[in-house]
Amino acid sequence: MKTTDYTVIRSRRRSLELRLYPDSRIEVRVPLRASAREVEDFIASKSAWLQARLRGQQLRPPRIPLQYRHGEEHLFLGQHYPLSLARAARPATALQQGSLCLLAPEPDNPERIARQLERWYRQQADGVFNRLIDHHFPFFAVRGHIRPQLRIRSMKSRWGSLSSLGYINLNLELIKTPLHSIEYVVIHELCHLEHMNHGPAFQALMSQCLPDWRRRKRELNEMPLR
Ligand SMILES: [Zn+2]
Repeated sequence: MKTTDYTVIRSRRRSLELRLYPDSRIEVRVPLRASAREVEDFIASKSAWLQARLRGQQLRPPRIPLQYRHGEEHLFLGQHYPLSLARAARPATALQQGSLCLLAPEPDNPERIARQLERWYRQQADGVFNRLIDHHFPFFAVRGHIRPQLRIRSMKSRWGSLSSLGYINLNLELIKTPLHSIEYVVIHELCHLEHMNHGPAFQALMSQCLPDWRRRKRELNEMPLR
């Protein structure tokens, strides 16, 4: 890799991982004893991927901060919906006639609207993510695994992770992407019940569960989120 700078973070882990953040910062997470040569070889092996992603980031329009005003478009399951804000004593949020309708005591207060909308996204995410886990878990149950418990988190650099403590962590932002993308992430994390890395055995299991996972992965990585 030529001009790109990156930070190496050593920790107790087994595999090497490259993270690219929305501000183009690059981190390489490596095991404590990884040699400089191993790290360089790993970066070199990811070079084409990294260059493509960096180019993609530069092509993307700059992120405009959301204003939480009436008529502004927000994403839900891959579709854009305009906000419809109206005053009411009790807050209520619903998807109605193609709009994201929020009844709120202070419809002109963007912070409160943002919080109310986030609560709604969390509720929706909880239902959608759990349904997908329930739908796909039987395949893993017969292989002797225990159903991980869902935790919805706001994460900057990843869509999901599986913790050894029995949690499947999914990024709240996923609720803004299409259902087939969320399904890909859920199955990816469930496959980590069996393989903690992304090696050939992991990929074979992915293909068994979701034959078109590579296409879905590509699509998700190209998704402009806001
Ligand atoms: Zn993974």
